[in-house]
Amino acid sequence: MIHIVPFNDLKQHDETGTQCPCDPHVFWKDPKTGAEFNEAIVLHKAWDGRELMEEAQALMNGEEWKGIGRGTT
Ligand SMILES: [Zn+2]
Repeated sequence: MIHIVPFNDLKQHDETGTQCPCDPHVFWKDPKTGAEFNEAIVLHKAWDGRELMEEAQALMNGEEWKGIGRGTT
């Protein structure tokens, strides 16, 4: 399971499962291709309103991180 968590957010995130208080979005497969991921991607929601979808897209596309979040496994 890969977590995408915003840097220096206002509140802590639970990076051990899918039950974080921020109500993260969990991706099991690529929304574009429908291909299943080897590991689920847990996209946390920033308390300060940052949009982390760009990081998720970068991760899925194998691109460089945008620098607004980080990935942990
Ligand atoms: Zn969270």
